[in-house]
Amino acid sequence: TREAYLHSERLHVISELTASVAHEIRNPLTVTNGFLQLLKRSETISPSEKSYIEYSLLELNRAEKIVSDFLAFSKPQCENMLNSNFKDETDYTRNILLPYAHMHKVDIQLTFQNTLMKKIDKNQIQQCLINLFKNGIEAMKEDGGILYIDVSEQKKKIIIKIKDTGVGMTEEDISLLGKPYYSTKKQGTGLGMLMVYSTIHKHRGHIDVESEKGKGTTFTITFPL
Ligand code: ADP
Ligand code: MG
Repeated sequence: TREAYLHSERLHVISELTASVAHEIRNPLTVTNGFLQLLKRSETISPSEKSYIEYSLLELNRAEKIVSDFLAFSKPQCENMLNSNFKDETDYTRNILLPYAHMHKVDIQLTFQNTLMKKIDKNQIQQCLINLFKNGIEAMKEDGGILYIDVSEQKKKIIIKIKDTGVGMTEEDISLLGKPYYSTKKQGTGLGMLMVYSTIHKHRGHIDVESEKGKGTTFTITFPL
């Protein structure tokens, strides 16, 4: 349909546009952050000057978050296509998110069956998994929960299931996923799911969402082999 075509064109344009921008912006952000940290330690500045620096750091932090949700767009796609195994990508993502999970009292449980190699854009797939795992962790209630990840291979398809025991979503919430800037979080960017949909689309994959309010959410991603 025309709507689906426009949607896929939009995802394409977005990824092309953000491709170099995210990468180029990150370095100046890091440098500025470093100098502000140094200034903050100065003993000759007044308390109000110090508060200006703190505001600047907070805003920089916010910019950094927006770039982070999109960083995977930073490299040209074809150069980046590598033969990889989803087990390794999932394992890697879990390892880098362990401290974050711990902070939210979340246990990440991984199960695998043999998965075949597939040519993927490693950076983008990792970023996509990071966004999904992070959302799962952030969705948990006060007392934490379990994030179940299962990677398997069935009928020439790779299937990745990401299941959380968090707050869940209504049908309406689900329909808003992937809309640019849609976020229900105080510090959210609303860019994570847009990135997820775009990456899966680019890899000719499919994503399915099942959710129950108060119980949790399961994302099922399918990639053709
Ligand atoms: P952000 O995480 O910055 O808010 P995302 O695009 O990653 O932006 O997610 C958009 C919104 O979708 C979230 O604010 C949240 O309301 C909802 N969401 C995404 N994943 C989940 C999940 N696993 N459980 C409950 N809600 C979710
Ligand atoms: Mg997110």
